[in-house]
Amino acid sequence: MIAEEIHNITQALPAGVRLVAVSKYHPADAIREAYAAGQRLFGESHAQELQRKHQELTDLELQWHFIGHLQTNKVKYIAPYVHLIHSMDSPHLLAEINKQALKAGRTIPCLLQLHVAQEETKFGFTPDEALAYLDGAEWQHLTGVRIAGVMAMASNTDDTRRIRDDFHRARLFFEQLRHDYLPEATELSMGMSGDWHIAVDEGSTLIRIGTQIFGERQY
Ligand SMILES: *Cc1c(COP(=O)(O)O)cnc(C)c1O
Repeated sequence: MIAEEIHNITQALPAGVRLVAVSKYHPADAIREAYAAGQRLFGESHAQELQRKHQELTDLELQWHFIGHLQTNKVKYIAPYVHLIHSMDSPHLLAEINKQALKAGRTIPCLLQLHVAQEETKFGFTPDEALAYLDGAEWQHLTGVRIAGVMAMASNTDDTRRIRDDFHRARLFFEQLRHDYLPEATELSMGMSGDWHIAVDEGSTLIRIGTQIFGERQY
């Protein structure tokens, strides 16, 4: 069933859009099953859970993507091997990722998490906050990190027009980022189990799918 879902999703993706299989709260064996089906990008949202799985799965050549809110005191657990941090949601976090990346002798690609959903959450930059941050010089001096694009989550609603509107605003911000600040930014991470078709339609390059592949999470 895992293999079948991965196959169904990847068959439906246009060229240039990649699947991150979100394996949080699922055991290492489920990751092995997905890997055997050809999946290579995996997403986790807790640093210590990722650390455990990373140690358990060193024989696999996979890419770990960090997608959840990352506390600054946990960055050190994942800095040596994480492939992409989707959830850079504050200047303070980026500074800490930079510090731990330099310690590990790396440059870690990060996505700027944009808050576009029409509901309260604590995490992410509003478009105005993101632009104010980008206008400052600080991030340009952080050689341990590279802002590689934007991540966004749509409103948690059945209203597909609202979801499309959220993704559309993230897309416009991404275009502005490329045009005014970072022409080399390539990734727009958006789309989950319930809304990835809309996200792909709106220009996503990375979709993050958990439930559709692995089933309900075991908390
Ligand atoms: C858990 C999670 C996902 C996957 O959600 P599903 O609805 O299970 O596909 C995607 N993105 C983020 C940031 C998540 O925390």
